[in-house]
Amino acid sequence: MSARDDCLFCKIAHHQLESDYVYEDDEVCAFRDVSPLAPTHVLIVPKEHYDSVVDGIPATTLAAMIRVATEVAKDEGIFERGFRLVTNVGEDGGQTVRHAHVHLLGGRRLSKDMGETPTRERSL
Ligand code: 5GP
Ligand code: ZN
Repeated sequence: MSARDDCLFCKIAHHQLESDYVYEDDEVCAFRDVSPLAPTHVLIVPKEHYDSVVDGIPATTLAAMIRVATEVAKDEGIFERGFRLVTNVGEDGGQTVRHAHVHLLGGRRLSKDMGETPTRERSL
């Protein structure tokens, strides 16, 4: 399986760097975000490297990521009240780690804010 030497989440997914794992199988792993934005903030990543979720991930892997997010939400006790799944893509999307991941956020009422930077402040 291809892990990139220069990729943080490849290193975490392949245990070259340890993290606070909450789920793992051959295809996907999930671990707690180091800077949580909510009581539950877990990142679900494919073990194989893709730059983002629109970088040609097989549909089966994407489905596995959502299934794992669902299982973790249940394990965390946030499934019934609801939660948020977010995936940032590219610079304008606010992606800071270029390895595909889905954020699972929950355990508090989340705001409707979809981003901090007003359009007029964005340099085109
Ligand atoms: P993005 O901004 O790309 O959507 O999300 C990247 C996330 O990775 C951020 O929420 C950030 O807090 C988290 N993160 C960055 N470095 C690490 C790390 O070394 N370990 C863990 N567990 N999370 C990290
Ligand atoms: Zn990677």
